[in-house]
Amino acid sequence: MRIAVVGAGITGLAAGYEAAKAGAEVVVYEAAERAGGRILTTELAGQPVDEGADAFLARVPWAVELCQELGLAGELVSPAQRAAFVYSRGELRALPQPNVLGVPLDFDALAASGIVSDGGVDRARQEPDLAGSPLDGDESVGSLVRRRLGDEVADRLVDPLVGGINASSIDDLSVRAAVPQLAEAAARGPSLVRELSRLAASSTADPEAPVFYSLPDGVGRLTDELVSRLGQRLRLSSPVTDLGELDADQVIVTLPADVASALVAPVSSAAADLLGEIDYASVVLVSLAFSAADVDHPMAGSGYLVPAVEGRTITACSWASSKWGHVGSHDTVVMRVSVGRYGDDRALSFDDDALLDVVRTDLAATMGLEAEPHTVRISRWERSLPQFRPGHLELVADIRQVLAQDAPWLQVTGAWARGLGVPACINQGRQAAQAGLTEGAIVR
Ligand SMILES: Cc1cc2nc3c(=O)[nH]c(=O)nc-3n(C[C@H](O)[C@H](O)[C@H](O)COP(=O)(O)OP(=O)(O)OC[C@H]3O[C@@H](n4cnc5c(N)ncnc54)[C@H](O)[C@@H]3O)c2cc1C
Repeated sequence: MRIAVVGAGITGLAAGYEAAKAGAEVVVYEAAERAGGRILTTELAGQPVDEGADAFLARVPWAVELCQELGLAGELVSPAQRAAFVYSRGELRALPQPNVLGVPLDFDALAASGIVSDGGVDRARQEPDLAGSPLDGDESVGSLVRRRLGDEVADRLVDPLVGGINASSIDDLSVRAAVPQLAEAAARGPSLVRELSRLAASSTADPEAPVFYSLPDGVGRLTDELVSRLGQRLRLSSPVTDLGELDADQVIVTLPADVASALVAPVSSAAADLLGEIDYASVVLVSLAFSAADVDHPMAGSGYLVPAVEGRTITACSWASSKWGHVGSHDTVVMRVSVGRYGDDRALSFDDDALLDVVRTDLAATMGLEAEPHTVRISRWERSLPQFRPGHLELVADIRQVLAQDAPWLQVTGAWARGLGVPACINQGRQAAQAGLTEGAIVR
């Protein structure tokens, strides 16, 4: 079986690794001079700092499993600080615990956090007793959370967390595609809070177990390891422009949906049209290193989120050197600031100086930080985060169905399919390889 994989982001690398492991003849084609796609660790002020993804979820097993298989399990590191903050109503306030993706499970803790007003707490307290159908088809996360817990919890807790991960507004995000955990809870009974609490209570997972993992050299260590396993089977600087030119029995395309659409069009115009419907958000990550002596704000936490309703430009600030033991040193503080979300491309239009100005203005406003960073790095990730609108899972199923008819030798997958996180991408890549090995089978 000869398998060609197009794209060497984490999805394509995982697909190539899986196919090679099974004994297939594999070639992975990558347009860029390096593999990894949205995963890239580089040095900032002498530290390994991720320019894109900096962690992967522990609860979703596929990344941890791959690390175990690659012999990296012993190296996994978890955040040194668990506390996280939200800039809300004029100050940084600790996220109320427990919460699931920002949905508070304890209303007294919500009240104590000060993140929402007294009126917002009162509205949220009504949730367990509210009647009504919990999930209205594949409604948006915003519609579900606003209906159940009110606008303040939606805008000041769930939107910064869930919208932040997807660089989107929760009002545009599919519950089922973007936050299956909430969909599962909503399907079990009318009260989201009660069902999430029940799910948490019945979980056998250790509550103290890490939520996220990374690697001491950054997430790039994982893609580097896959690159070394693929060896000569990986061809860098090799953009694929015509699927017909690939000498293979099965082809797995792992490109962003818009790029995949153009490539697939000659073999399935219907699949190309459907892929073209998937939209993307752009984000910019500004990493800053400060002299520790210049930063007097307490840094006991992993960082903070900035709700869109606060009207600032930055959406989050990760205190990277507090969060990760492998980043920062006793005299250097490293922060990673996120800018941009769907519909707000201002950051992309700013030049570096203008961008740094707005970031520093927002750092001053949110954490009183006036110090000048000694090192700055700006990573622009244009059209990098796929947007999972209501109906997304049906769209993906339609793409697969059309391709099964038009080109059974072809599979198209990637972050846009069923999950954009690193673990989901690994799973999607490996599943595509397994399906490719059983000739013509399509992952559904
Ligand atoms: C700023 C940022 C932060 C993130 N943080 C996290 C995080 O902390 N945790 C997490 O789990 N996820 C995070 N994500 C999401 C996650 O990193 C991505 O969804 C994932 O890495 C995408 O992998 P992929 O292989 O599907 O696509 P990509 O990484 O986009 O890879 C596609 C590859 O295809 C190549 N290519 C394009 N055209 C061609 C062609 N014609 N021929 C050959 N190759 C081509 C590209 O060069 C690229 O290397 C983050 C994303 C961003 C942008």
